[in-house]
Amino acid sequence: MAQSLLTLIFTGLLLLAQTLGIQTGTERKTVDDLISAFHDLRASFLEEPGAKSDAGNAGTAPESPGAQDGRAAGDQPAAARVERRVLGAGESWETAYYVIDSGRSGPVVMVVAGLHGDEPAALLAAERLIEQAGEITAGQVVLLPEANAPAVRARKAHTGADLNRAFPVETVRGEAPAPQEPAAAAIWQLVEEHRPDWLVDLHDESSDVTGQTVVYHEAQPEAAWAAQAMAGHLNEALDEADTAFRTAGGLPSGSLARAAAELFDARALVVETHRRHSLAARSEWLADGVMYLLAYLGMR
Ligand SMILES: [Zn+2]
Repeated sequence: MAQSLLTLIFTGLLLLAQTLGIQTGTERKTVDDLISAFHDLRASFLEEPGAKSDAGNAGTAPESPGAQDGRAAGDQPAAARVERRVLGAGESWETAYYVIDSGRSGPVVMVVAGLHGDEPAALLAAERLIEQAGEITAGQVVLLPEANAPAVRARKAHTGADLNRAFPVETVRGEAPAPQEPAAAAIWQLVEEHRPDWLVDLHDESSDVTGQTVVYHEAQPEAAWAAQAMAGHLNEALDEADTAFRTAGGLPSGSLARAAAELFDARALVVETHRRHSLAARSEWLADGVMYLLAYLGMR
């Protein structure tokens, strides 16, 4: 019940957003209005008597995004279990990943950092997310902090070809070949194993085109909406004009995010900071963006 009404509200606002032609997020004022309207509607729904006691959603009713102090006291679920596993044990590209399991049903979100090895804010954000694993109260997070481990060690974007262009490109649906590059093949297998509902890839750029941007798959309205909401949330605390996050549709062909979206139907987001800002601020923004999405999905 709760989910279907939220979906209805979500779809209505999305259609309104599309009608107004604000997919690119260039008209921030209108987007902010819509986000705040969505939050108001959602909050009013959650306040309805009985909404939170719906048996199917007991203890997992999503709190209003950003309302981090609103958790009900006396209803603390058991802490999520964090398991460290290794991808490619013994290989030069061996790297650890973490499965954060709340023990409750909910979305599976895969968070990736370090596909490029010279983007420190993404790596630090991944560390912060492991530290905050205990806040996950529904679903599962699969976190791969150093996807391109040799590049991270070398502090270079890549040591060979760009790992984030090594993933399958959709030609005929369901017939994409596995990646040739061994690390990419192993990461791709991880995606196949966990079948994430959402995949969030963190980057830390030096480009004015991609920096400070939340990018979504252009054919996924839910991802577009989440990107708008995430950017809106991050921008609440940012007043400098050059710091604000924009949103944009369109993920590079061969990137992990586009491949996961097109071949496994994961909702795909790429969050990119700009290196002109301090490392502390950038890593904070990336971690905050992911934690916001988890709240948005009712996972914390
Ligand atoms: Zn990058």
